[in-house]
Amino acid sequence: MALKLEPGTRLVVATHNPGKARELAEILENRFPLVTAGELGLAEPDETETSFAGNALLKARAAAEASGLVALADDSGLSVAALDGAPGIHSARWAGPGRDFTVAMAKVEERIEEEGGAGDLAAWFTCALAVAWPGGPAVVVEGRVDGRLTFPPRGDRGFGYDPIFIPEGGGQTFGEMDPAAKDAMSHRARAFAKLKAALL
Ligand code: IMP
Repeated sequence: MALKLEPGTRLVVATHNPGKARELAEILENRFPLVTAGELGLAEPDETETSFAGNALLKARAAAEASGLVALADDSGLSVAALDGAPGIHSARWAGPGRDFTVAMAKVEERIEEEGGAGDLAAWFTCALAVAWPGGPAVVVEGRVDGRLTFPPRGDRGFGYDPIFIPEGGGQTFGEMDPAAKDAMSHRARAFAKLKAALL
């Protein structure tokens, strides 16, 4: 069966992160009326899977079942080569209960130093997107952007780990870049391009 998303379908976006919700809304501009899981008061399921795709699917299925609407969920994070892909699916958790990414970025720097890997600052962001129909099928795609880390953090225009990440071929961090330029090349944009190709 070909899975198609009809324009105008009301979607529930299974994120409680305002930064991500804003980016998702911008990328989907005018195509679908969106409501967030937060606005519907849906519980956030535990992210018990071991991959970005697994966790995105788990969140989309939970939101679809709880709301009866087609649900879109993402799971994303930063992976560092010298740390065997950490923080990865634990990217949000490294910021602690206060979601303080100054702390998370310092932790990344500290761990790299501990590993003696200061020469290898290769890193990438991954975004998995899942769409689930209530009681029905689901689709998952992944997008990725490669780059390198820089310390100390630079720029305050993004969120999360943006101030320490320089995408391949560039000199500015995601935190310094024009948000539109980031949106055009980000892991999330690449995942969306795949999702559009699959569903629209
Ligand atoms: P989750 O997808 O809600 O589990 O959390 C992903 C975490 O990865 C976020 O809290 C951010 O810290 C980080 N992250 C994901 N995408 C980006 C990005 O585009 N820039 C900076 N940090 C990101």
